[in-house]
Amino acid sequence: MPPIFLIDTHCHLDAECLFSQHAAVMSAAFAADVRQIVVPAVSAAHITRQQWLQQHYGCAVAYGLHPLAVGCREDNTQHLTQIAEVLQSGQACAVGEIGLDFYHGQEDAEEQEWVFVQQLKLAQQHHLPVLLHSRRAVDRVLKYLRRYPVVGGIAHAFNGSEQQAEAFLQLGFKLGFGGAMTFSGSHRIRRLATNLPLSAVVLETDAPDMAPQWAQGQVNQPANIRRFAAELADLRKMELTALTQACLVNTWQALPKLAVGSLLSIATPST
Ligand SMILES: [Zn+2]
Repeated sequence: MPPIFLIDTHCHLDAECLFSQHAAVMSAAFAADVRQIVVPAVSAAHITRQQWLQQHYGCAVAYGLHPLAVGCREDNTQHLTQIAEVLQSGQACAVGEIGLDFYHGQEDAEEQEWVFVQQLKLAQQHHLPVLLHSRRAVDRVLKYLRRYPVVGGIAHAFNGSEQQAEAFLQLGFKLGFGGAMTFSGSHRIRRLATNLPLSAVVLETDAPDMAPQWAQGQVNQPANIRRFAAELADLRKMELTALTQACLVNTWQALPKLAVGSLLSIATPST
């Protein structure tokens, strides 16, 4: 059987609950055939931590300001300045995670949209793909992507309609599937994961959030990708190795720097 090579395309390893146990989290991931982890930013606050994860473990990183981390214009400008600076180093595989989130209402819609547009411009300037977050805002995210086209990327934790999925695919995006797909009641997501073209899907955990059905209330971990892959292979009635190889190629298409970048390196724990 060919080796299984998994990439977690979306994992907040810099979040305290994972970072404080990084050695255990990383060796569990490695034991579960995870060979690359993409660590997207929530804000500029953890840039140093992300750089450490990149240097120490070979993780891939993205820099950006998450729509739920958008504050007042002054703070946003400060974050964006730091993000623009760190992107100059050429070490990021994407700009992210960025987008729009109107789950809690649209009071700060104007500011969210301004921040999103600034970051789409940064992605254009650096020819980088983007990691997209959209909640109750898919059509508006699509509108901005058409207005400020980027080289593609991943619509993370995709939960839209078939038409919206098709629109992302036409704009050169892949769609991220993870924990939500494991719930038997998530009919729409499971239907999409089953029926979308195989070339459209990539795997993600969104750890520490989005714990799967079998681990509700627990901290989600990158090692869970192995079981998400098995679940997706079952849904699509495919062999696990064929599914994981397809996801790997899709990920490399969405995030080309991963194809030529280094892999995870985990020191063998001493006994
Ligand atoms: Zn995220």
